[in-house]
Formats: sequence, C-alpha cells, structure tokens
Amino acid sequence: MKRTLISLLVTLAAAQAGAQVTDAMVTNDAQTTNDVLSWGMGTQGQRHSTLTEINTSTVGRLAPIWSMSFGGEKQRGQESQPLVYNGKMFVTASYSRIFALDVKTGQKLWKYEHRLPEGIMPCCDVVNRGAALFGNLVIYSTLDAQLVALDQNTGKVVWKEKIDDYSAGYSNTAAPLIADGLLLTGVSGGEFGVVGRVEARDPLTGKLVWSRPTVEGHMGTLNGKDNGITGTTNATWPGETWKTGGAATWLGGTYDAKTGLAYFGTGNPGPWNSHVRKGDNLYSASTVAIDVKTGKIVWHYQSTPNDGWDYDGVNEFVTFDMDGKRMGAKADRNGFFYINDATTGKLVNAFPFVKKITWASSIDLKTGRPNYIEESRPGDPTAPGADGTKGKTAFAAPGFLGGKNQMPMAYSPKSQLFYVPTNEWGMDIWNEPVAYKKGGAFLGAGFTIKPLFEDHIGSLRAIDPKTGKVAWEVKNNAPLWGGVLTTAGDLVFWGTPEGFLKAADAKTGKVVWQFQTGSGIVAPPITWSEGGEQYVSVVSGWGGAVPLWGGEVAKKINLLEQGGSVWTFKLMKKG
Ligand code: CA
Ligand code: CA
Repeated sequence: MKRTLISLLVTLAAAQAGAQVTDAMVTNDAQTTNDVLSWGMGTQGQRHSTLTEINTSTVGRLAPIWSMSFGGEKQRGQESQPLVYNGKMFVTASYSRIFALDVKTGQKLWKYEHRLPEGIMPCCDVVNRGAALFGNLVIYSTLDAQLVALDQNTGKVVWKEKIDDYSAGYSNTAAPLIADGLLLTGVSGGEFGVVGRVEARDPLTGKLVWSRPTVEGHMGTLNGKDNGITGTTNATWPGETWKTGGAATWLGGTYDAKTGLAYFGTGNPGPWNSHVRKGDNLYSASTVAIDVKTGKIVWHYQSTPNDGWDYDGVNEFVTFDMDGKRMGAKADRNGFFYINDATTGKLVNAFPFVKKITWASSIDLKTGRPNYIEESRPGDPTAPGADGTKGKTAFAAPGFLGGKNQMPMAYSPKSQLFYVPTNEWGMDIWNEPVAYKKGGAFLGAGFTIKPLFEDHIGSLRAIDPKTGKVAWEVKNNAPLWGGVLTTAGDLVFWGTPEGFLKAADAKTGKVVWQFQTGSGIVAPPITWSEGGEQYVSVVSGWGGAVPLWGGEVAKKINLLEQGGSVWTFKLMKKG
C-alpha cells in the first residue's frame, strides 16, 4: 500500500513537469509507431514495426540525415538499442554513458557519464544495451551493478540504487524491462560465481519490490519479507555448489501482458567444469517464467542441463501467436531453436538453427531433454588416467560464443518468420580444477574457438518456427553480433561487424540496400515515425565479446576498427 501511495505522489508531481510514459504506453509499444519505449520495440521482443513507408520499392532512397559521435577516448563495443520519445532519442554507450539527443537533428541535449570505480569486472567488454522509460525518467544499469534514473528533460539524477557488489564480480549491461508497472532487471557475472536473480523495483523511486534468485536453494523476497526458496535445495546441485551457482540473467528479459509472465534466460552454471557439480543445476541455462505480481517462478524450461560448454541460456524469449496459441521462441546459444507454450512452458518444437552441433544429436520432444553426445563433453581432470591438472580436450560445436549470442532476433507476424543472426564456430575445450575465490574468474576450463567454414562465420537466417526450415540466409564473413529489425514494408534490417547496416527483402533475403557506418555494428536497429515520416536508427561501434575471446577467429576481424556513434536515416525525396 505504502509503495502505491509513494508512486502515486511521484506520478502526480511528475505529471506537472510534462509528458509521461505510462505502463499502458509501454505495454502497447509495439503498436504505436511514433515512439520506441522499450528494448525489443515492445516488451514481447518481436522487433517488428507496422510502418510501410520504407519498403522494398522505396528503400533505395534511404539515406543518412544525421550522425552523432559518443566522443571521448572511450570507444569499444556499442551494443545499445536507442529509445525514442517526445522528440528525444535516449541512447546508452560504452563505459556506462547515456545521451539524450534531438531526434530530428541529432543535436545533443544532455549526457551523463556514470563514475565507474577501479576494478569493475565485465567479462565481455564495457558494453551497455539500452535504457527503459517510465514516468518522466530514463533508467539504465551500469558496469558496477547499479541502476541510475535520470530526468528525461534535464539529465539530472533522480534516484540511484546499488544492485550488488561489483568486487564480487557482479555487473550489469542489459536494458531494464518495464512489466506491469515494475522495473525488472537481472545481473551479469556468470564467470565469477555470482548468484543470478531477477529483481523488480518501483520505477519511480528505485525501491525494491521483489527478488527472485535463479539458482535453487536461494531465498526470494517480496516487500522486504521472505518469499520462498527457489526450487529445492540440493535437488540438482551437490553439496555447497549452489552457493556459487551462476545462472546470471545478463541479457534481461521480455514480458507478455497476455500471460502476465516475465521471461528471463539464465546463463551458465558456475564453474564451467561440469564434473564438480553433477546434476541438472537448476535453473541455469534455462528460461524462467516469473509471475510479475508475486515474484515466483511459474514454469521453467532448461535447454542445457549440467551445461559443460558455457551454453548460457540467456537468449531472448520472444512471444508470438502460432496455431492460435501464445508461444515463445528462443534461439539458444547451444545451437537449438526452441518453441515453448508461453503460458505453461511445455516444449512444442526444437530444431537446430546452425549447421553443426556436436554436443547433442537432438532434443527429445517428449521429455524436453537433449540427447547428449558424450565425446563432446570435456573430460574430468580427476578421472582415472588424467593427470589431475587437465582433463581430456573435447571438440564442441557451437563454440562457447554460441550459435547466437546477445544479438536479438526479430519476428514478423506478416511473414511468420523469425530473422535470426547466427554464427558457425566450434571450440577445443578442456577442464581444470578450480576453487571459488571472491571476484576471481570461476571457470575451471580452457578453450580455443575456431571457425568451421572458410567463407563465413555469421549468417542471417529466416526461420520458419513451425517446420524449422531456413527460408533464406545471407552469409557474413565476420561473426554477426548486432540485432535485427523487421517491418511491414517487407524489410529486414541488421548490421555487420564490417560496418554495414543492411536491408533485405523479408521474403527472399535479397539484399536491397546497405550503408557503411564507419565502424562495426554490434547493436540492433530501430524504426519509428515522426511528423509522418519513417526513420531508422542504429548505433555503430565495433567490440563486445568477439575481439576479447575470439581465438582463431581473430583473423576474420583484425581489420575492424573501433568507433562510437549513432546514425539516423530517412527517405530522400524523389528525383
Ligand atoms: Ca511504440
Ligand atoms: Ca557464460
């Protein structure tokens, strides 16, 4: 009751200051074409726009109207999806920065640079994937595991909350999610033995409402009180291993107002060495569906039980309608594409979306479990015959960077296809003994990632969720690391590390337009309309996990340059 009253007072005060983003507006974001209020262009994460002005016939006239540099010496990976509201664009940048720009001219209105302490521990570059809008606030998370809410008009900090201790390996890179009036966030840090969780806060004050750990045995909370343990302690984790169990929710989540559930993917169990934690290790490498009103897990589906390959199951769960039912689709890092009933979690379909998968031959649709190929699991360093310091090396595909990683796919209700940015690579992986030390890497594994084909690693694939068939693909030399946008103008937009923003015909895959942005694209494009004209924007700036962890992939990417800018396009007049 108290929380509601405070929210009401803050809302009333904010209402006097001008335009307000409401929960209903966020819920309808995918239908309203004059703004982009959420990561995913709608909380279901479909990344589909009903706009048609830019289409397969007109896209030849698409040209840049402005570009704005993030400036400074701080470049590296720019994985951010911009938001657009009330004439402003809100875009986050590397090193926990955020900018507000005039959406028509790109002119900078304000910027905020979060002061980061020494010793932050992001595993996979100093990225940020975007912000959330609510009331008069723009809210984003930082590399030192904090949340910052700023006034949309002035850039002044309204509230700041610490999510967790960065010195224990916690960080945050995902865009927060607004669901049923709450602000939902996850945590990063799966390589440091953190405990994954999802938290809900009052978006106007930052006050914690509930917390739900994603490792069994840990206690959840609701309004400051205990709210039940997640799962059953020690059911799927031996001894004390659940205390450093990982399952980080580092890519954030999606929400479907129809089911009332928020869907968060969970990362690898800790450590990577699977022999020290025999069992399924719930709820790592899973989708967890959480009732946003109670903070309880309603269902879960685990794609990689007892993961031994860093197959984080964090990938976005995108809800859509199929055969008259609400379903959810996920292109998992482990190379399989899953369709689950969004209400019950029941597995409906599972098929490979990359060409080479060696760790499992298929997914049993009855039990929902993978049929493992045991030779692909790296050996136990303490097994008979091993020397105690290193287990038998195994080859596994996909490599640990995954058939798909952080780059979000798109779904078109018009073509009924998913457009999935995929990568083909494998790895040699071996296990080593490991002990948990606060703030230390908690892997117990070594690895070398390697390409599988000469002519490409990346491939944008149009996939039919009913049949698993690939309708078309566009190959890419370097690994794809940016997200996808699709429109009712029968277009699919995506960026490449080589720097091109591309558009293809959604039906045929024919590339009909491209533009060189000056650095690699590792972020998802957006589209919206302003004054009756359709705009497209994308952030450019090469980086992310690939240059840090790429191994033999390096020769495909060593010509790529860093950057940091946002580009905006619209149609030039005819003639
Ligand atoms: Ca919208
Ligand atoms: Ca991981």
